[in-house]
Amino acid sequence: MPTATDRPFNQPLGGNDMPRFAGDATMMRLPRQDSAAGLDACFVGVPMDIGTSNRAGTRHGPRAIRAESCMLRPFNMATGAAPFAEMQVADIGDVAINTFDLKKTADIITAAYDDILSHGAVPLTLGGDHTLTYPVLRAIAGKHGPVALIHVDAHADTNDEMFGEKIAHGTPFRRAVEDGLLVNDKVFQIGLRGTGYAPDDFDWGRKQGFTVVPAEDCWHKSLTPLMADICARIGDTPTYLTYDIDSLDPAFAPGTGTVEIGGLTTIQALEIVRGCAGLSLVGGDLVEVSPPYDTSGNTALIGANLLYEMLCVLPR
Ligand code: MN
Ligand code: MN
Repeated sequence: MPTATDRPFNQPLGGNDMPRFAGDATMMRLPRQDSAAGLDACFVGVPMDIGTSNRAGTRHGPRAIRAESCMLRPFNMATGAAPFAEMQVADIGDVAINTFDLKKTADIITAAYDDILSHGAVPLTLGGDHTLTYPVLRAIAGKHGPVALIHVDAHADTNDEMFGEKIAHGTPFRRAVEDGLLVNDKVFQIGLRGTGYAPDDFDWGRKQGFTVVPAEDCWHKSLTPLMADICARIGDTPTYLTYDIDSLDPAFAPGTGTVEIGGLTTIQALEIVRGCAGLSLVGGDLVEVSPPYDTSGNTALIGANLLYEMLCVLPR
């Protein structure tokens, strides 16, 4: 297996060298490495669903996203980005989580990302349920200090507890604030909606300094101006992008566990990720793809495309 320690840059395996439905099922048909050594950025899977509260299945997310990524070609025809001409990128496989123990899994994830970051690589994560973002942020803040956060989701994920547990897919950003991992007044939650337990469900974050952009404020419009405003407010602060696929309307992305109607469009999702160009992105994730509920594969396909778009906006 080739390693990425020497130039030239790794390239996705072309569709004229091996049929797109065949060969190694890595992200974008990139080379597979065992660690992030020598990489500028890496794709990594976190195959977990033991933090989910409703439908499960996100443990199968990384494999489904990799499978649906097979059609992705190297050049971004809309933005002109050519990430594989400028960065060393590979798929470093999956984190060996403990599927019987969520708390141990959180520590396993942090240790795995400490190792990735020790090589100077930017991790782009194939989830997995949203629980994973808290242990990833522990590693990210351990290297970069508290970070700005762009959080795209139907849900705030700021519960104190779920079923009495502190670690679950509805609590990561409450824990992140408690641990001092975030620059609170540079946290932006986009796409929140649906039913709540109480009228003030989205206000906990606001009280910490978060900016909440409900889905209704995104309806019927381009999100490019919003992203320009967010970039201006973040400036050069290191920034993490966490993208919950349930931010999208279930018409586009039904293959997920906690579905809410009235969500974002695929076009708005592209505007959000492309609107991160120029930020000091230090990592990103795409979470909550649940293949058992994704009969067309389109949810995983959107996830694969958004991860590629994240790669395209990483600082060079
Ligand atoms: Mn979430
Ligand atoms: Mn969600």
